[in-house]
Amino acid sequence: MLEKKLKQLIVVTGTSGSGKTTLVHLLLERYPELEFSVSVTTRKPRIGEIEGKDYYFVSQSEFKEMIIKEQILQWVKFADNYYGTPRNTVENQIKQGKKVVMITEMEGMRKTKQIFPDTLSIFIMPPSLEVLKERIQRRKQDSCESIKKRLETAKIEIQFANECDKIIINDNLDKAIDNLQKIIFDE
Ligand code: 5GP
Repeated sequence: MLEKKLKQLIVVTGTSGSGKTTLVHLLLERYPELEFSVSVTTRKPRIGEIEGKDYYFVSQSEFKEMIIKEQILQWVKFADNYYGTPRNTVENQIKQGKKVVMITEMEGMRKTKQIFPDTLSIFIMPPSLEVLKERIQRRKQDSCESIKKRLETAKIEIQFANECDKIIINDNLDKAIDNLQKIIFDE
């Protein structure tokens, strides 16, 4: 059993379009000592997404096989696609004493906390639902159906933001990165 070390695992969560991915990638550029847990997904890559950096893109059957082989730490079905954390990589990074940042939706945060109760969870809050809708639509990467599902899920997730240890409102990117950095390194 893996030793559960204090605040080594950081789960950044928040609604789709909250800007959490942008925030985390900028943070990782500034602090190379942080490790990023690259998730596996059955979603098709968006323009500009890189295999192994943004996600590992797999088929549904490959994903299901990984679940059966217990290679996935936590997983969910979100907007008709599967997303999960490869178990080995995260466990090895933690064993090496690294701070590991994961990005998940709310259920992934809850599941990770069950496995590692000392996980630090941070909710990235969009300034408003209007801004969120604009951001998701501007991305032009999701179908109308997917946008609808993402907005419905977002409304629910926002209600549960208080479950996280910290909340950051992402109305200004620089300020939000500073807050994220302070929370992660002060813990
Ligand atoms: P997107 O399709 O926008 O990249 O991701 C959809 C949602 O799935 C986002 O909220 C994202 O944070 C979440 N997600 C990405 N990877 C994982 C994962 O490994 N586990 C869980 N539970 N959610 C994830």
